[in-house]
Amino acid sequence: RNMTTAELREAFLGYFGQQGHQRVASSSLVPHNDPTLLFTNAGMNQFKDVFLGAQDNGYTRATTSQRCVRAGGKHNDLDNVGYTARHHTFFEMLGNFSFGDYFKVDAIRFAWTFLTEELQLPKEKLWVTVFEEDDEAADIWINQIGVDPACLSRIGAKDNFWQMGDTGPCGPCTEIFYDHGEHIWGGPPGTPEEDGDRYIEIWNLVFMQFNRQADGTMEPLPKPSVDTGMGLERIAAILQGVHSNYEIDVFQTLIKTIAERLGVNDLTHASLRVIADHIRSCAFLIADGVLPSNEGRGYVLRRIIRRAVRHGNKLGASEPFFYTLVEKLIEVMGPAADELAKQQAIVEKALKAEEEQFARTLDRGMAMLNEALDNLKGDKLDGETLFKLYDTYGFPVDLTADVCRERDLSVDEEGFEAHMAEQRARAQAANQFGTDYNAAIKVEGSSEFTGYQSLEGAGQIKALFAGADAVESLSAGQ
Ligand code: ATP
Ligand code: MG
Ligand code: MG
Ligand code: MG
Repeated sequence: RNMTTAELREAFLGYFGQQGHQRVASSSLVPHNDPTLLFTNAGMNQFKDVFLGAQDNGYTRATTSQRCVRAGGKHNDLDNVGYTARHHTFFEMLGNFSFGDYFKVDAIRFAWTFLTEELQLPKEKLWVTVFEEDDEAADIWINQIGVDPACLSRIGAKDNFWQMGDTGPCGPCTEIFYDHGEHIWGGPPGTPEEDGDRYIEIWNLVFMQFNRQADGTMEPLPKPSVDTGMGLERIAAILQGVHSNYEIDVFQTLIKTIAERLGVNDLTHASLRVIADHIRSCAFLIADGVLPSNEGRGYVLRRIIRRAVRHGNKLGASEPFFYTLVEKLIEVMGPAADELAKQQAIVEKALKAEEEQFARTLDRGMAMLNEALDNLKGDKLDGETLFKLYDTYGFPVDLTADVCRERDLSVDEEGFEAHMAEQRARAQAANQFGTDYNAAIKVEGSSEFTGYQSLEGAGQIKALFAGADAVESLSAGQ
């Protein structure tokens, strides 16, 4: 079957709705119930307290299409963007959840039925993994579902055992992979070639089965639960008969728009993929209340925006373009962009401000960097240059590293950190007042963000500009 990304999202939620699952809206990218988490990175985040038994939502089955960001923090896919066929900083995770209701048999059966009957995927292209000690799951796959044992592998804890933290709920996973064909390099999961892009992981089913105690013992949970996650863009690629996520409808529309705006002819240019990816994470993060700043969530956002702007610069952009993509993004995301659409003007304004600010130093920074790279001895850029680019030209280290990687060079992060530590010590000595400019724009994890109130009156946006000036005067004065 051929399906658009929007149809697929709906098919998933509809299928699990029919199986008695409550349809729940995506939660914010800023996790309000978990201060330990940088950004929402999985569908289960908003149900953490339900899984822990501390919250009862009045249903035991739920289904969502959750917006996720994996940039910074524990799961960081930022450096994969532009390099793999399957990673984004922002993606939608389709999920079905059982809170002490059904367990392994039904979870596996639902997933298999959805893929092979609803979506009619050919069974012989699907591969599965189970946790090496989980005989129960292996038995269900082989004896109840009828999967060929040659297409099942047993995997160790690193990939197939999930835990919420060092203690608490945990349990084995089973994952489903799709074989995109032998013309693509890579091997099945569990083989040395698994990191190739031939066998792509599409769905992870987590069985919350134990409660790990502080002393390491595993107590069986009285009511085991299920948490699953499937990348919408990955399954869309399969349904649309393409290999890379970046070839699906949503991304092709974005990529064409960017190419048109920048006058680029080669639609396969990696920078187009990077920009198309980054506009999604940046726009949705701002819509969820994050603004560019010099620390925490805001700094991750700033880094992503600046990386996108640098890629635009590489493609020859001569004026701000990144913010102009928001409109097209809203159009291609359909109902998933309902909240973003309400905040469109403010999101564009914040992006434009950041882009304009960075544009003032980008060309000069790039000139300095290119010169340093042309004269580089060895294959590692030194900490002093990294620091100067950061301090004078506003180049986050990962941005400089991104440029270096294009030339197969690396950066001396430790050397950079040493310069940073020195500067902090100097700044502390000089600034007895301890003014923290960024405090004004920090998004508190605990406070619920309910949208910017109005374009001009929004305190957050005023703070953004105040913050921008502060950042500039800080670096100008040093
Ligand atoms: P991978 O091994 O490919 O990096 P993962 O094991 O880190 O994926 P999970 O944490 O199991 O991913 O998340 C559940 C599902 O979400 C994955 O099976 C995949 O379909 C999707 N997914 C995970 N990370 C990304 C990403 N960066 N971009 C797009 N989809 C993703
Ligand atoms: Mg991953
Ligand atoms: Mg994986
Ligand atoms: Mg996984």
